[in-house]
Amino acid sequence: MKKRIFGNWKMNGSLASNAALLDALAQGVQAGACDVAVCAPAPYLAQLQAVLAGSAIGIGAQDLSAHTEGAYTGEVSGAMLREFGVRYVLVGHSERRQYHAESDELVARKAQAALACGITPVVCVGETLAQREAGETEAVVRRQLAAVVQVNGHCLSEIVLAYEPVWAIGTGKTATPAQAQAVHAVLRAQLLAATTAAGRIPVLYGGSMNASNASELLSQMDIDGGLVGGASLKAADFLRIVACAQ
Ligand code: PEP
Repeated sequence: MKKRIFGNWKMNGSLASNAALLDALAQGVQAGACDVAVCAPAPYLAQLQAVLAGSAIGIGAQDLSAHTEGAYTGEVSGAMLREFGVRYVLVGHSERRQYHAESDELVARKAQAALACGITPVVCVGETLAQREAGETEAVVRRQLAAVVQVNGHCLSEIVLAYEPVWAIGTGKTATPAQAQAVHAVLRAQLLAATTAAGRIPVLYGGSMNASNASELLSQMDIDGGLVGGASLKAADFLRIVACAQ
C-alpha cells in the first residue's frame, strides 16, 4: 500500500509563516510513491487551496461538525470544508477528545459527516499513559474503533485510521516500533473482522514521529504511514519524514 504522511499543524501558523512553509513543501514533495497532506487550522484553508493548487500535497482540516448546517455557532461543516478543496479531516484527535470532551459516538458521527461530503476522515485512536500502564491499551483502541465501525460499517473502507498513543503526542516519547506494531496489528485484525475491504484502509502511526525514528516505524508490517504534529511545522523535518516513506 502507498504510504501516507499527513501533517497536523494543530493551532499554529500565520499567513506569513504558512506561506514560507507551504512554498517549501510544494517544491519538496513530488507526486509519486507517497501521499502527503497537511491538516491546517480552518482559517488558513483558503490559503492552502491557493498555494497548493497543482501541487502533490493534499489539503486536510483538523475537525468538522457532526451536523450538516444550522444553529451550531463556531462549528464548520463538511460541505464548507469541501469548498476549500479539503480531502482529509482529522476526527477524534486526542486533543479534541481530551479538551472538548468528544465521545467515541461523536467521533463516529463526525467520521460519518465527513464521508457524506466525500472527505476522508482520519480517525484517531489511542490510549493514555494511565490506560497503558493499567494494561488497557487494546481494550481502549478497540472500543474507540468499534464506535466508528458501528456507525460507518458500510463505508468503513473509505476511512484512514491513525493510532496515536496519547502519551507519545507532543512529548518526544515515541512508541517503540514494536509497541506501535503490536497495536496496529490489533487494529488491523479488528478492521479485517469488520469489512472484506480492510486491506484498503491505511493505518497511520502518530506520536512524536521525526526524521530519526520515521524509517523504523514506517518499516513495520502494519504501519502504513505517519501523522506528524510538531515535526510538520518545519519544512526540512517534514520533508525528511516524507523521504523515509518513499
Ligand atoms: C499529532 O498531533 O497528531 C501528533 C502526532 O503530534 P506530535 O507529532 O507532535 O507528537
